[in-house]
Amino acid sequence: MYAPDVPNGRSPREIWEIARSHLRLQLPQSTYDTWVRDTVCVAHEDGAFVIGVSNAYARDWLHLRLRRMIKETLTSIVGHSVDVTFVVQTTPVQDGPERTPAPLLEMEPAVVPAPAEPLSGGSANLRSHYSFETFVVGPSNRMAHASAMAVAERPGVAYNPLFIYGGSGLGKTHLLQAIGKAVQANGHRVLYVTSEIFTNDLIEAIRSGSTDHFRAKYRSADVLLLDDVHFIAGKEQTQEEFFHTFNALHSANRQIVLTSDRAPQAIPTLEDRLRSRFAWGMITDIQPPNLETRVAILQTKAASLGKRVPDDVLLAIAQRAHRNIRDLEGALTKVIAHAELFQRPVSVAVVEDALAYLAPAQGKLTLETVLRSAADFFGVPLAELIGRNRSAKIALPRHVVMYVMREEVGASLQQIGQVLGRDHTTVMHGIERIASEMNRNPDLVQSVSALRNRLYEPVRVR
Ligand code: ADP
Ligand code: MG
Repeated sequence: MYAPDVPNGRSPREIWEIARSHLRLQLPQSTYDTWVRDTVCVAHEDGAFVIGVSNAYARDWLHLRLRRMIKETLTSIVGHSVDVTFVVQTTPVQDGPERTPAPLLEMEPAVVPAPAEPLSGGSANLRSHYSFETFVVGPSNRMAHASAMAVAERPGVAYNPLFIYGGSGLGKTHLLQAIGKAVQANGHRVLYVTSEIFTNDLIEAIRSGSTDHFRAKYRSADVLLLDDVHFIAGKEQTQEEFFHTFNALHSANRQIVLTSDRAPQAIPTLEDRLRSRFAWGMITDIQPPNLETRVAILQTKAASLGKRVPDDVLLAIAQRAHRNIRDLEGALTKVIAHAELFQRPVSVAVVEDALAYLAPAQGKLTLETVLRSAADFFGVPLAELIGRNRSAKIALPRHVVMYVMREEVGASLQQIGQVLGRDHTTVMHGIERIASEMNRNPDLVQSVSALRNRLYEPVRVR
């Protein structure tokens, strides 16, 4: 199996090993373990990597769900466009115990066994990597983190239920699992499930006439952690069953923690009776992390990979990968792999090459972009933002501009002062005002977050 078109004479098999290590960081661990971990590169033909998997189910799943991501990952490693196909290997891919793919509703539920799961040890579905210790706290997730800690310390007492929502890759599953780990260490019976698994478990229980078993399993938990609950919205029977599970647990003072990609009121097909129950306890959100938190996360991540990455490189990565933490981790892995592959020291230049696709249009964020985007966002003329007008209507947006310049661009007080025609103490007070106001005012948090997202969109012509 020799392929002349791969860099540095690496074999396709080695390239696939590197790709797998990228994928491990980009994918939720359960997805990686189930679908990617045991794959091998069996051939490299006509520019396409042929990946061997253990059964047809896995082959179809990879083809439908991950082919694009895998293709992009391989392309970024090899440096030119490559293709990927999946084939079933008749000989076992690895020696380990036979693995059953995770259930998936869209495909035949009949192939999915629903084993009875005792609620302790590994079978509570907890992953060791996701703990409070490895969770970096910043303004974007402080409330969610504090609520999760409170629940972990006093399950069933502090907030019940706890509902955590936020965009993809921002740490919801991580927090949920961290709660699970912590309460399990205190001797509680924990059950973590995705809503997809809950749904499939239910379907299987109904099919095999074992709903009593299903109920016993879910109602015997001291702490039920249900991930991605938006998935059950619109599924009538699943919602009905979950409603009863919820009531049984809640009335027995058992803890329920839920995550979702949206707030309960923003899930249109969620039943009202569930929506109102979700509001009984605490609803908290996670926002995209600011620059400083992103750098801190990268530091932790690099350390856990045992890699020494200079601070300017971490900063350069954090400036480019801003949307969520999964992207951020993926970007770090790409940079490290790129440097290894081309035998270059990890540097800002490597970041630029490895991550060119992340910010193709706008390059690095500038203070001017912040100023223009903020003027557009708040509907305030740019001249007013840098002018002398101190009315509240202008002062608040101006302070937000200072805050975002500091948080998102990492500019110094002097640099911000120069752009806005203020001295650095004024800038400092402006930033402090926004920071403290954000602790009290969720609307302001939303505005800052919306402005931040806008910074990375193409500038609009007005
Ligand atoms: P979500 O469930 O919101 O889609 P995940 O919990 O799967 O996101 O997080 C995506 C990745 O980012 C995971 O590898 C997780 O460990 C990491 N991550 C998220 N938030 C943090 C954080 N605050 N500190 C460290 N790692 C984080
Ligand atoms: Mg998740």
